[in-house]
Amino acid sequence: MIEKGGYISDILQQEPGGRAVAHGWVKTRRDSKGVRFVQINDGSCFADLQVVLDADAFSEEALHHVTTGASVRVEGSLVESPGGGQRVELHASDLHVYGPSDPASYPLQKKGHTMEFLREIGHLRSRSNTFGAVFRVRNALARAIHSFFQRQGFLYVHTPILTASDCEGAGAMFGVTTLDLQNLPRKPEGPKAGSIDYGQDFFGKPAFLTVSGQLNAEIFALAFTNVYTFGPTFRAENSNTPRHLAEFWMIEPEMAFCDLQGDMQLAEKFLREVIAEVMETCAEDLEFFQKRIDSTVLATLENVVQSSFEHVTYTEAVALLEKSGNNWEFPVHWGSDLQSEHERYLTEQVFKKPVIVTDYPKEIKAFYMRANDDGRTVRAMDVLAPRIGEIIGGSQREERYDVLCQRIAENHLEESAYWWYLDLRRYGSVPHAGFGLGFERLMLYLTGMKNIRDVIPFPRTPGSADF
Ligand code: ATP
Ligand code: MN
Repeated sequence: MIEKGGYISDILQQEPGGRAVAHGWVKTRRDSKGVRFVQINDGSCFADLQVVLDADAFSEEALHHVTTGASVRVEGSLVESPGGGQRVELHASDLHVYGPSDPASYPLQKKGHTMEFLREIGHLRSRSNTFGAVFRVRNALARAIHSFFQRQGFLYVHTPILTASDCEGAGAMFGVTTLDLQNLPRKPEGPKAGSIDYGQDFFGKPAFLTVSGQLNAEIFALAFTNVYTFGPTFRAENSNTPRHLAEFWMIEPEMAFCDLQGDMQLAEKFLREVIAEVMETCAEDLEFFQKRIDSTVLATLENVVQSSFEHVTYTEAVALLEKSGNNWEFPVHWGSDLQSEHERYLTEQVFKKPVIVTDYPKEIKAFYMRANDDGRTVRAMDVLAPRIGEIIGGSQREERYDVLCQRIAENHLEESAYWWYLDLRRYGSVPHAGFGLGFERLMLYLTGMKNIRDVIPFPRTPGSADF
């Protein structure tokens, strides 16, 4: 049996004088007269553990394989470190190399690599300083999100990933089939003769990967009051941007007996509390992002935790954009959707903090958003953040049966496909509201990383699904 070494994060907490066993991968090795300094890391924290190997105590043969990338076990005594940079170091008395690593071909070198290159070595990039920090923050953020909702009594609901109802309407869907694509069954007769016979497919009808768990979450909210989902979501949109993935994670709270005000309050409280918690648990990692990735990241996060968000209606936002005098790539007028350049102008130039835009024209929002009395706008709210643009999209839902039927017709949707969604409005309907938050968008915000491909372990984007 292999005995457990402490995590390096635990070892670094210990007082000098004791003994310790450490496991990890060699980050760097520096040879000086009579001693070898080896930095090792096991992913448990940002700081490496410095191991000191006395050249007299270990043969050249034993030290030969202690090179960057190798996996090692070191046992020794913890002593106060005379050098700067670390409080303690491990003076080795015993050394074992589990797996050597050829220094000539190991792709991860000490010199800084570009993010593009690191994406090509997705199996090794997690061992770099940057990605170590990214994925510890990601873990802490996931935990903070669950703990936020659990603290307030929200029920965690697992909504399906496979769906045969194409009524979510939130973007292009990936089809899922077990039909033989080389030899598709066709309908032999009837009005649709010659078209694909999905009756023979796995579910007896076309199926897809989910683009949102919202409609299912609404079912649960109308039984458990406050619920949330946190799971993977898929969009086959061919948008090669630094903010879009084909597979991403979404958090979708849904609250019964709640209107748009309550929805906005939750969004704000949510962002404030989860950011504060990650700042507390990942201070060292965030310091790294501040120093090496984006020097504004800590100030930005402080600002979110401390100040309240700006609220504007869509109509007010459009007026601000129109009078800005900017030469927009996408011209703005009442009725047009806000583009990234507009969202960034509002958050970065006008308000210099997150902004909640409400009451969008009904034509550019989903059918299920609650209609306002003006007949033109719906109770939607988008939270926009500096640098990122849209981070949350939410709304109060239409709870009135007749109005919802009318909105379904206006959007040229098939009423029969929504029979269960409409049933929720026939039996015990209540005002309810919720939002969808892109987990990776929030990761971009927290870390200052520039590209969404670099805050998810294994990015899936058009033309790319490696590792
Ligand atoms: P955008 O306009 O930025 O494409 P959207 O309007 O399509 O966003 P929604 O359908 O409201 O977004 O989805 C809810 C949230 O999911 C968004 O606020 C965003 O944070 C996130 N999101 C949407 N699409 C993606 C994507 N392709 N990759 C990563 N996150 C996404
Ligand atoms: Mn989109």
